[in-house]
Amino acid sequence: MDCSDVHPKLFGYVDGELDLEARGRVDTHLRACGPCRQLVDLELQFHDTYVERLRPDPAPPRVWERTTALLGALVAQQRAGRRRSLGWALALALIGLGTGVALVAPLRR
Ligand SMILES: [Zn+2]
Repeated sequence: MDCSDVHPKLFGYVDGELDLEARGRVDTHLRACGPCRQLVDLELQFHDTYVERLRPDPAPPRVWERTTALLGALVAQQRAGRRRSLGWALALALIGLGTGVALVAPLRR
C-alpha cells in the first residue's frame, strides 16, 4: 500500500470507519511514512478542535419523549386507516426534534 492508496482512506481511518483489515494496512503504512502520519495528525487536530465542538448536543429527554409520542400517535392513526402520509409525519417529527435541539443547545452552553 502506498500513499495514493492511503490518502482516500484517511478520513475513514480518523473517524474509525475502516474495517480491521483496512485499518491494519493503513497502520502499517503510517509507521513507515512520515508525511501520511502528519496528515493523520492534522486531521486528528482538526477533528478535536472543530468537529467535536460543533457536533450538536443530543436532544433533551423531554424532546425525545414528545417526538416518540408524536410518532407513536401518527403510526396509530395510520393503522386506524387514516390516509396521512407516514413520510410527512416523520419529516414533521424530525423538524420538531431539530428545532428543539437548536433552541435548547445554545442555552446549555
Ligand atoms: Zn504515505
